[in-house]
This record gives sequence, structure tokens and C-alpha cells, in this order.
Amino acid sequence: MEVLVIGAGPGGLAIAAALGQEHLSVGVLSVNNHNEPWPYTYGIWGEEVDELGFENLLKHRWSKTVSYLGEGSKDLISKENKSISHERDYGLFDKKKLQQHWIEQCNQASVQWFRGKASNFEVNDINSIVTTSSGKILTSKIIIDATGYEPVFLDIPNKGEVAVQTCYGIVGEFSKPPVEKNQFVLMDYRCNHLSKSEKSAPPTFLYAMDMGEGKYFLEETSLGLAPPVEIETLKARLHSRLKHRDIKILKVDHEENGVFLPMNIPIPDLNQSILGFGGSAGMVHPASGYLVGGILRRAPLLAKELAIAIKNKSNSPSEIAKKGWDNLWPKELRRKQALYQFGLEKLMRFKELQLRLFFKSFFSLSNRQWYGFLTNTLTLSELVNAMWIMFKKAPLNVKWGLMEMKGREIKLLLEFLKPNI
Ligand SMILES: Cc1cc2nc3c(=O)[nH]c(=O)nc-3n(C[C@H](O)[C@H](O)[C@H](O)COP(=O)(O)OP(=O)(O)OC[C@H]3O[C@@H](n4cnc5c(N)ncnc54)[C@H](O)[C@@H]3O)c2cc1C
Repeated sequence: MEVLVIGAGPGGLAIAAALGQEHLSVGVLSVNNHNEPWPYTYGIWGEEVDELGFENLLKHRWSKTVSYLGEGSKDLISKENKSISHERDYGLFDKKKLQQHWIEQCNQASVQWFRGKASNFEVNDINSIVTTSSGKILTSKIIIDATGYEPVFLDIPNKGEVAVQTCYGIVGEFSKPPVEKNQFVLMDYRCNHLSKSEKSAPPTFLYAMDMGEGKYFLEETSLGLAPPVEIETLKARLHSRLKHRDIKILKVDHEENGVFLPMNIPIPDLNQSILGFGGSAGMVHPASGYLVGGILRRAPLLAKELAIAIKNKSNSPSEIAKKGWDNLWPKELRRKQALYQFGLEKLMRFKELQLRLFFKSFFSLSNRQWYGFLTNTLTLSELVNAMWIMFKKAPLNVKWGLMEMKGREIKLLLEFLKPNI
């Protein structure tokens, strides 16, 4: 075997399928069956999925995409129902189809499936060897650890507390439509249902959509905080949001209870002799928490690089891993990551009003700029330019929040100027 991928989540399957396309011999080891349904729903912007050519893997697609950000401090009540339109499609993957797409590609390339829990590994000059908890030994040229946010083998530097996005969501039926027909709401920051003391607590927003046939998906979300906002708080907020609008929950088909998504996971140590991919490799977007668009774009690029490195028989596993890490985390991406993480630190500190005004300035960027920011498709200079324009457009209290340096913000700016990893 040339590559052993550990993990069969989106990250593991995406890279295994791409390596298979490069005619490498690949194995996937996972605790769960690789066909087991994934627990989350995966969203993506329409243009992003179209450019990748995977629009047929969507289950839902909305053109009416909006956010509610209020109208500033004074007239929030009178104008709270005014939304801003994003003028872009948004979609939800049919997660079964997405999974099967990768599995079929893997099967066509004769990828071998192994069940078991990886518990030990060793790398020498020739091979990499993984041992499972039941004693099975799997030998390959290189290991890719795709075991998610708490990787089993990858060495991730400790850079302090990790900001965690928490969500409480339900899919169900309601006494009246909680969002308009065919509407997708990226962020509903309306907060008139909250008491004064609740408003001074960390802000949360509603992510919501019309799923058709009388069903709606509503998710109360905290953007990212360390320590995270409690699930019970999110649940109570969702209920009071609905009560304020006189909406009753009639039927719950599905509950997403207790979902934790780490946002600013550090970039792994790039000198280690194994590779990572997906959540394990710090690939989740620190501003949006999204991963799938990024792994769809980048798996083929990494697989090509690895195919060349592996075909050169004189390369050791460590040399192949080095090529892989250089492909995954080139200097420009590391600098962008530091900027994104700097931005997230700021958002975590913002109070409710500051946060709403920040997003108003953010969405007043050109459509291409905010979309490129959220999908991580801007070049470094485009990203810096977008952030500078946003700063200029922002009102004074947001500007002040952006300039005031706290916690690890200076360190992140230094990492942006001179990435040293
Ligand atoms: C609530 C939530 C909502 C999200 N929404 C979106 C979204 O809308 N759009 C988007 O793009 N992204 C979204 N994400 C982010 C991201 O897409 C997911 O977190 C994704 O599941 C991460 O994929 P992964 O393959 O890296 O890790 P995982 O999905 O966690 O997969 C890890 C795999 O490793 C296996 N494993 C773990 N340990 C071992 C071991 N020791 N030995 C063998 N196998 C092991 C597991 O069984 C599993 O198969 C969301 C995440 C969360 C939590």
C-alpha cells in the first residue's frame, strides 16, 4: 500500500478518492463503517459548488439568501425586520450523495477498506506502520491522519484556548413559517427577544432555512468562543426567539443537540513525518467553520503532489510528508490563516451591537470580496485589501474594537507578517 488514510469523514474520503484518481494504492482505516451516515449537514455557496462541478450533489438550493443585522442602536426596533439580500445562491449537500460520490471513486480505484481504531504508529526511512487497538498492522509508504479535530497521531502545537462554535438546531414543523417561503437566512442577529442582561452576554444568531414541504431548519448559533456558549443557553434562546414571534414548535423531526465546532485550530507541525487532511490539518475556515468546499478544491492538488513524490522511490516517508505539508500550507496560506484567526479573536470580543455593525460593514464589501473572504478564495493581497476597505467603512465603535489589541492578537499579526512555522 502506498498511502494509508486514517478516518472516513469528508476529509478522509475526499483525499482517498483523489489519491485513487492518481493511480496510487490506497487504504482507508476507520473506527466506523465508511458507509455510515455523517451526523452533520454541510452547506456551501452556489457559485463555489458550481465551479467545482458538484451542483448535482446538492439536496437543497436557495436563491433568496438574506441576513438580518438590525439598523444600529437606536432604530433597531422599528427596522428590525429589514433584511439584507446576499444576491448569491446557497446550497445544502445531499450528504449521502456526497459520501457515495467519494466512495464510488474509491471503489473504482480499488481502495481497500479497513475497520479498526488506530492506536500506534511508527515511521522509518522506508515505510510507515500503523497498529490498531486490536493488533492489526498496516504498512504503507505514508500515513494521512484524517481523524478530525482531535487527531489521533498528528502533532498540533498548543497555542492556547481554541474558540468553539456551538449550535442547537431543530428540523421540524411550526405553527407559522419561521422564515419566508424559499428563504435561506445566513445570520439573523435580531435580538429584541432578549432582556438587557442577555444582550450583554455573548451574542448568538439564528441560521435558518425553508426545507420545503412545510419543514424548516432552525439553528441558534454562537460564532465561536472560548469557553463556548452552553448548549442549554442556545436552546433557551431559540425558544424565546420563537416565542417573541408567536411561533410554536409543532413537531421535531431531528434535533442537532450539543454540536461543537472548533474554529481556530492551529496549523499542525509542518515538520512531522505523517500528513493530515481535513479538520485534523487545520483546514476548517476560521471565520465560517466550513471545510467541504476547501477539501473539494484542494484534495486533487495534494494528491497530484503526493503521486509525484511517491513515484520517486528514493523519497523517504518524511520527505514525502514535507512535500505534502508544503502543498497544504504554503507561506501565503499561513499568512492568510493568521489574518483570519486575528479576525476571529476580534469577533469573539465584540458585544452584540459591535458585532451587528461589524457584519453590516462586512456585507457592504463588494459581493466578490465578501464571498472570496468566506470561501478563502482571495489572494493574500486581495484579502488584506478587503479587510482594509471594511475597516474604512466600519463605524467608530467597530474601528476602535479592531484597533484595540488584546490577548494573542499581536502575536497573530506578527505571524501574518512573518510566518515562522
Ligand atoms: C455542527 C457542524 C456543522 C458543520 N457545518 C458545515 C457546513 O455547513 N459546511 C462545511 O463545509 N463544513 C461544515 N462543518 C465542518 C466540517 O465539514 C465537519 O466538521 C467535517 O465532518 C470534518 O471532516 P473530517 O473528515 O476532517 O473529520 P470527521 O468528520 O470528524 O471524521 C473523522 C473520521 O476519523 C475516524 N477516526 C477518529 N479516530 C480514529 C482512530 N483512532 N482510528 C481510526 N479512525 C478514527 C472517525 O471514525 C471518522 O470517520 C461543520 C461541522 C460541525 C461540527
